[in-house]
Amino acid sequence: MHLAHLLHRSALRYPGRPLWLGADVNINYGDGVRRINKISNALLGMGRQRDRVVIVSTNRFEAFEAYLAALNAGMTATPLSPKLHASELSLMIADSGARFVIFSPEYIEAISSVRGQLPTVEQWVCMEDAPGFVAYRNLLEGSTDSRPDLLIEPDDVAWLFYTSGTTGKPKGVMETHRNLLAMIQHLRLGVFTDADETDVVMHFAPIAHATASVGLAHLSVGAAQCFPLTSNFNPEKALEAIERFGVSAAFLAPTMVQMLLQCPSVANYNVKSLKNVLCAGGPMYVEVLRKAIQVFGPVFCQNYGQSEAPALVGVHKSEYDPHDPAKSSRLGSVGREYPGVMLRLVDSEGREVGRNVPGEITVRSDVVMPGYWNRPEATAEALKDGWLHTGDVGYLDDEGYLFLTDRVKDLIISGGSNIYPREVEEVLLQHEAINEACVIGVPDQTWGESVKAVVVLKAGADAPTADALIEFCRSRLASYKKPKSVDFVEALPKNAYGKVLKRELKLAYWQDAVRQN
Ligand code: AMP
Repeated sequence: MHLAHLLHRSALRYPGRPLWLGADVNINYGDGVRRINKISNALLGMGRQRDRVVIVSTNRFEAFEAYLAALNAGMTATPLSPKLHASELSLMIADSGARFVIFSPEYIEAISSVRGQLPTVEQWVCMEDAPGFVAYRNLLEGSTDSRPDLLIEPDDVAWLFYTSGTTGKPKGVMETHRNLLAMIQHLRLGVFTDADETDVVMHFAPIAHATASVGLAHLSVGAAQCFPLTSNFNPEKALEAIERFGVSAAFLAPTMVQMLLQCPSVANYNVKSLKNVLCAGGPMYVEVLRKAIQVFGPVFCQNYGQSEAPALVGVHKSEYDPHDPAKSSRLGSVGREYPGVMLRLVDSEGREVGRNVPGEITVRSDVVMPGYWNRPEATAEALKDGWLHTGDVGYLDDEGYLFLTDRVKDLIISGGSNIYPREVEEVLLQHEAINEACVIGVPDQTWGESVKAVVVLKAGADAPTADALIEFCRSRLASYKKPKSVDFVEALPKNAYGKVLKRELKLAYWQDAVRQN
């Protein structure tokens, strides 16, 4: 029971179907699996089963190929975000104790600046020929294309996933073959129910994050994987590629959906091939989802999970229907648990809360990590009595739909009342001039914390005053939840995966308060 089996199974069933597609690439499953076997055999010739293989790359097929080759060699794939700074890459590579680092040529400078500090790495492999590095094509030459003869255990670590945290020591989540196979089953049963070998998955983002999950789920059915954009997400180019390659499935972070919707030429492209678009990783606000369904059709599904347990709860596209009053209230939900997931929402004392009452989401499932790499204390904090404490707060409605309210740490407590930022953000986004909104708690001498909205306006919109926005919220929310102040900014701070860094934003206000006292 291991992931490489999915690849071999699909290659046997669909040898002539395309595996990798792109502007200059068209490699079928038969040839693709032979290439992967060669790379795996080359890695095994220089290293050992269970070695870590770091991959730092722009968005190109070789990154996913190297990832699969590592799994096929019984090694641990460790893809890192290409947006990380050289010093962050260095910390993560050192923490993983990797023997191999495979990278695309854009990172030669960053890699050169840190390689001297990383004694565990024996092979630095560049995807294109570069002096001083092993050439990727060498891995494809000189080794056999037969499947490596290995016993890969379900509890071997398949993917060492460094969390998107920005401070402190990096934390590597160990995702085993068992975890990822459970993830694939969850996604196939709950979201991609109609996926098959005719699908074309487009990877809009580098494979270091959720797009790889969509890729793996589709690899299991022999679908094509398309890498049309190598660097930053560009909405116009993305739309062009959807039309050109007949893309049917993709992972899109909610901010990417917003960027596509705001692209002035969105209506000029034929995007009818889209069948399943998975949104995850951050809040998909109701207004954005409603508009996205209007423009792209009922193709949106949602997944809720985290690196520690990548697929817990989901919504099938048929469950979101803005025209059906019974279903439109679900637009704010991330769905119901997948078969094979137990959810338990608890209060701060660890007692289970009732329906419609917010609590911390704790879970048990085969998708839950066994722990963090070499971090027993952090593991013990996250996994208590077999339950993963997600740090997310949400509530379950009467039909079992989960609504996320916020991270435990982002909850605002003002004058003893709990305020969930997401609820206020949903309201702010209903305002026609607002493009993005982030609501945080800032220090307040009287109330402990008060609600602050930090907003980004739409380009060319008439700027409302702070008072007008506060009044807008007051007319739609209980008065104690309305922001007490509003800051207008050009952009919100985001991490390498495009997630808003709420804690970083908050810190600036809390540090200011400390300085003033
Ligand atoms: P990461 O471990 O970087 O994938 O981040 C996981 C976190 O992203 C979760 O703990 C949630 O706080 C947030 N998240 C994931 N999926 C969703 C979703 N569908 N809606 C809102 N927030 C989400």
